[in-house]
Amino acid sequence: MSPPLLLVTNDDGIFAPGLAVLAEALAPLGDVYVVAPDREQSAVGHALTLHRPLRVDRLGERRFAVNGTPSDCVNLGILGLLPAEPKLVVSGINHGSNLGDDVTYSGTVSAAMEGTLLDVPSIALSLAAAEQGSFDEAARIARLLATRTLVEGLPAKTLLNVNVPSGRLKGIRFTRLGHRVYKEKVVQETDPRGKTYYWIGAGPPLWENLESTDIMAVQDGYASVTPLHLDLTHYDALRRLGEWEGALNAQLGARGRRSRRHGRE
Ligand code: MN
Repeated sequence: MSPPLLLVTNDDGIFAPGLAVLAEALAPLGDVYVVAPDREQSAVGHALTLHRPLRVDRLGERRFAVNGTPSDCVNLGILGLLPAEPKLVVSGINHGSNLGDDVTYSGTVSAAMEGTLLDVPSIALSLAAAEQGSFDEAARIARLLATRTLVEGLPAKTLLNVNVPSGRLKGIRFTRLGHRVYKEKVVQETDPRGKTYYWIGAGPPLWENLESTDIMAVQDGYASVTPLHLDLTHYDALRRLGEWEGALNAQLGARGRRSRRHGRE
């Protein structure tokens, strides 16, 4: 049997140390293809490039730099560049955490979302270090989780979001997403030409102290593994808000009748 194909990407760019460490850690598991943005793309979220052509630089036999987003890289890798469908997408190892609500901004996590949407089991990995920490523990976790995922697969529409603390690792915890608290206001300053500018996200992040969250696990020295589901439908809310449907349609109908009476569409 031929070795499985693994697609590795990130949002820190093709030359980021975390990407090289990840590719090396996964090399024993199969044929690793690296398809990554040609420059830093942190916090671009799940953006796809649709209004300009994408260019690919082949830097090695299985190493490609793309002038696009992390999601572009995964889409392009799975649907075009790789010789066959990969068995796994792994994104990271990001320089910095992707915890709680921040996953919605994250290019690292979005790359794993793109893999999941294309039906390939996907994992996002981040190193929760303020400064450049060692990627060794994160690499070990990456290989462990990748190995298990290759064997067992993942539940439908589900990816794993993994954050590894810097320093000594106490273990692994399966967690839910934490919640950010926004205390600081946007910074407002005046530029040298007298115009006002704003700076968002300038302060240190604050988090709610909620049990069993990813942020608590990482603070306690554990790697957090959070399964994220890409069916964003809130089924309980759908059932409850379904009661609105009749009333809203009645109002819609009433407006429609009135419009006709006034001779409008
Ligand atoms: Mn990043």
